[in-house]
Amino acid sequence: MPVPAVGGTWLVEVGASLAPVRSLLRDFLLILLVALPVVLFVSTSGGFVLSRRAFRPVEKIVRSAEQLTLHNLGGRLPVPQTGDELERLSLALNQMITRLDRAFQHNRRFLADASHELRTPLTVLRGELEVIAQQADGEPELQERIGSVLEEVERLAKIVEGLFALSRLDAGVAQAEWKTFDLARLAATTAEQMSLLAEDKGIAITCESAGEVPVQGDRGRLKQVIVNLLDNAIKYTPRGGSVVIRTSARDGAACLDVADTGVGIPAAALPRVFDRFFRVDKARSRAEGGAGIGLSIVKAITTAHGGSVSVESEEHRGTCFHLRLPKATPTTGKLDESSSPLPSETDAFKAR
Ligand code: ADP
Repeated sequence: MPVPAVGGTWLVEVGASLAPVRSLLRDFLLILLVALPVVLFVSTSGGFVLSRRAFRPVEKIVRSAEQLTLHNLGGRLPVPQTGDELERLSLALNQMITRLDRAFQHNRRFLADASHELRTPLTVLRGELEVIAQQADGEPELQERIGSVLEEVERLAKIVEGLFALSRLDAGVAQAEWKTFDLARLAATTAEQMSLLAEDKGIAITCESAGEVPVQGDRGRLKQVIVNLLDNAIKYTPRGGSVVIRTSARDGAACLDVADTGVGIPAAALPRVFDRFFRVDKARSRAEGGAGIGLSIVKAITTAHGGSVSVESEEHRGTCFHLRLPKATPTTGKLDESSSPLPSETDAFKAR
């Protein structure tokens, strides 16, 4: 700094060390480098923990909702006591489930009552018609007409039996007699019992099995599943074709496949074949005595056993139904070796 003085101008220079400032800046940088990750970590994990805690009631509701099925609509979603929109939402959903449950129960009761009430008059009608047909001996035209009415009554009786079986399955009655038994053996005996039917149509049935396949369930009902699948395979396969029934244990599951070389199912119809009363070719199915209930019975029984059924098909090449059931551990119980006859008319919708 220039300072005027006597005889000229003095220049004054003043200096100070920058070391304390530099050291402060260095300390600050160090604190930033150490503290920033810590602050970031604490805030991120804190946010994560808080959001997890906030969403925990939602997760519980989602888990309960996933477990609700048509067969256990009696369950309800948990209601978090938070006093906010979440509590109101779960209360509203629970009220909706109650209304749905009531509607389904009403439907089920109606189906069970209607099919039960229809069985007796149909049996009486069948009996009366048979007597009239006998009395009309010597009148071929009348006999023929009574015969065709009898056929329709029998078809109706089969549909009613199918609906009755479905209503019992919906009500969970199918789980009455659970045993551990060999699915491979059941498949082999059923195929053998149905081989006559196949022979009549010029179709070869073969049974392939890779050893014992223990399953736990209602043997009679599972036999009905095999009968329905084999009956369809025989029905929709032209003369000279073949049907293969295969059992195996894969990835902890008991698998049963029924494959045929028949007419196949169009791709557009595949997602609907397990629907009640669905038939691809109504005229053909009706002519064969089908009403579109057999596969819905298969699905209902498989679901009641905790399994699943799927279908693969190619038109004019063939169809394959895949059944997967939970495999029982042989220690669950001694295998039940008793063999059962084909399901009776009242038990099996498709039994012949
Ligand atoms: P249906 O008594 O009419 O046979 P299902 O419920 O058993 O009724 O089968 C539904 C429909 O699925 C049948 O009408 C038929 O068109 C088709 N379908 C079932 N199984 C087969 C098969 N193995 N091959 C071809 N079509 C099949």
